[in-house]
Amino acid sequence: MRAGTSDDNMMLQVSDVFCKRLPKVELHAHLNGSLSTKTLRELANLQKSLSGSDDAVWNIQEAIIEHGQKRTLEECFQLFGIAHSLTTTPAAVYKATQDVIKEFADDGVLYLELRSTPRSVPGVMSKAQYIQAMVDAIQNSTDGQILVKLMVSLDRQQGQESASETLDAVLTAHSQNPKLIVGLDLSGDPMKGSLTDYLPSLAHARNAGLKISIHCAEIPNPDEVEKILDFHPDRLGHCTCIHPLYGGSQELWIKLLNSHIPVELCLTSNVKCGTAESYKKHHFIHLFSVKHPVVLATDDKGVFSTSLSEEYMLTADSHGLSREQLWQMALSSIDYTFASEEEKNQLKDMFLQIKQLSDVQ
Ligand SMILES: [Zn+2]
Repeated sequence: MRAGTSDDNMMLQVSDVFCKRLPKVELHAHLNGSLSTKTLRELANLQKSLSGSDDAVWNIQEAIIEHGQKRTLEECFQLFGIAHSLTTTPAAVYKATQDVIKEFADDGVLYLELRSTPRSVPGVMSKAQYIQAMVDAIQNSTDGQILVKLMVSLDRQQGQESASETLDAVLTAHSQNPKLIVGLDLSGDPMKGSLTDYLPSLAHARNAGLKISIHCAEIPNPDEVEKILDFHPDRLGHCTCIHPLYGGSQELWIKLLNSHIPVELCLTSNVKCGTAESYKKHHFIHLFSVKHPVVLATDDKGVFSTSLSEEYMLTADSHGLSREQLWQMALSSIDYTFASEEEKNQLKDMFLQIKQLSDVQ
């Protein structure tokens, strides 16, 4: 046995390069919020050339797109609107999907579940066509390094009529592509809409074989959290205000832990939106320290100028995690995917091969 040297310590340090090479699983990424500056600029140029609309509007949009990491929170929210205004045709949705897939693959992501709320644009695109454009983009994705699945989102602001229209489109698309469309997500402004209105649609989707993920406790709302946990979705997003330190209660926290439902955690998104005070004070550590299943995710990598590698780096940095802890966290994330058991086993084999190679290097 030999004493550890400073070289050994250096080797064990988590670095940007290590996080980028780490094979990763992304389970909480919204299509429009994930669009990079490059894609937004290309989509804007395309739309501008087709419409020839007002230059002043474009100049404001371009300024926000170009601000990148320096974007204010207000500009971040404006960017969501800009992204939505640029994905209003099947061709734009197709390009957006393909670009996002490529960027995640380039970041070392082996498996991606991409989610989006399908929109209809009168005379241009129906919700079914929006979903089909994403399906086509996934199927024609040339990057063989990444396995991609689609989750369709219901926006809690959209109202029941629109939600049931979305549900019809999802169920039809799911019956045609059961292996590719794997889940339904409930998202949107947590201050708006009532969860109860959407539970029947979620139950209907579950009966049709779709997995369910719900954005949960982004603001303190104990009644809603109770109902969500009683519904027992397959995964939960955020769960920010459940711990008693963050606007929840001990009772709710214990209920979450006892549910063993995996939680998708998006640190940068929460910090930038101000729902978490800092990376260090993020509720990640409370879940991680009691071994509750968690998966790191980006939420909206374009809007918040992040990547999944950066999320691993920032989490390791803020909470003193080792390389081995990151390996284990990334590996266990495979179990929380909505992939088939066969696909999960293939992903684990691939993951362990990459780990073995990196261990002997
Ligand atoms: Zn989200």
